Amino acid sequence: MSDEVNPFESLQEQIEDAAEYLEYSTDVLERLKHPERVLETTLSVEMDDGSIEVFKGFRSQFNGDRGPYKGGIRYHPQVSRDEVKALSGWMVYKCAAVNIPYGGGKGGIKVDPRNYSADEMERLTRSFAKELRPIIGEDRDIPAPDVNTGQREMNWIKDTYETLENTTEPGVITGKAIESGGSEGRTEATGRSVMLTTREAFDYLGRDIEEATVAVQGYGNAGSVAARLIDELGASVVAVSDSSGAVYNGDGLDAEAVKDHKRETGSVTGYEGADEEFGNRDLLTMDVDLLVPAALENAIDADIAEDVRADIIVEAANGPLTPAADDVMAERDVYVFPDILANAGGVTVSYFEWVQNRQRFYWDEERVNDELERVITNAFRDLVDAYESTDAETFRTAMYVVAIERVVDAAEEAGIWP
Ligand code: GLU
Repeated sequence: MSDEVNPFESLQEQIEDAAEYLEYSTDVLERLKHPERVLETTLSVEMDDGSIEVFKGFRSQFNGDRGPYKGGIRYHPQVSRDEVKALSGWMVYKCAAVNIPYGGGKGGIKVDPRNYSADEMERLTRSFAKELRPIIGEDRDIPAPDVNTGQREMNWIKDTYETLENTTEPGVITGKAIESGGSEGRTEATGRSVMLTTREAFDYLGRDIEEATVAVQGYGNAGSVAARLIDELGASVVAVSDSSGAVYNGDGLDAEAVKDHKRETGSVTGYEGADEEFGNRDLLTMDVDLLVPAALENAIDADIAEDVRADIIVEAANGPLTPAADDVMAERDVYVFPDILANAGGVTVSYFEWVQNRQRFYWDEERVNDELERVITNAFRDLVDAYESTDAETFRTAMYVVAIERVVDAAEEAGIWP
């Protein structure tokens, strides 16, 4: 993994690559490459032993031309201003790629939640929510889960916001527990869109998914659900990994059993149904048909890309390939189906959650999954149309062409505020 690559510069490079196929003036392009604003906040939080610890938090509102800012909040030691800026930009183009009426935002706190108690995490989250309160709202900016956050944190943020505002406004945040106004199907949604993208990709490329072997890097929510659903398509998931290492079984792993093992022990390694264990990097370069990077950005740099033996990559994580890795893949004819389509299921079902919250009318899981399938297959069709009509070198660039056009069209309708 490459730590030197700045994800914000990667985002800007991806936009520039697509801009070559679009005829926009420099001022329009400039706007597409920078956030509208970034909140940086310093949080003082009381620890269980009475001491005070100080944390850095960020929220980037990248672009609101197509609707309220939308995007998750992550808790990770690697969180930085530039990382949050990049992730918020990816949200803009993700929401535009699947054509849901949102702009893009992202937030994060630089913290390793494993080192803190639940009470400490609650105080930290509520303190962050207090800082976010003036800039979020169901028509303004709608946070959601991301790396190391989930229903628990969303419920705390919702409760803090509603208490301070003296109102009920469940649509201020998505990814909530069902009892707090969450949607059926939200937890699985990111993995589900990875599966749907995989299904469409194999179909488009004329490949048989039932013959495919698969490796999944990262076994959190997105990776583990994607592994199970891709397995249900008939493919064989032979290897999965997390930060502890990778487990392998040539006859296919039981994705659900590995998940149970990780829930019990904290890692995938030690899973008794595995024939072999090896390092994370070895998983990325395994001889499989499909590789699904589902961890963090920059997982595959140019060096690793040279050794990747999969023919198809479907990105479950945000930004797992560096731009240099993308170039290597293009040269080597490895097809990369981009994050802004493949993992868009999460934000798409967040959109459904928000619609349900606003209507106070709730859907069953079947309806959620059907609507999600429609959104992802439509977006895949738009991707293929753009790929074929522009002759773009990669699927990523083609998807950005679609997304950028939608953002610019909305901005042009609005005009420039004096
Ligand atoms: N964090 C997820 C993403 O990166 C979901 C965002 C959302 O639901 O707003 O797409």
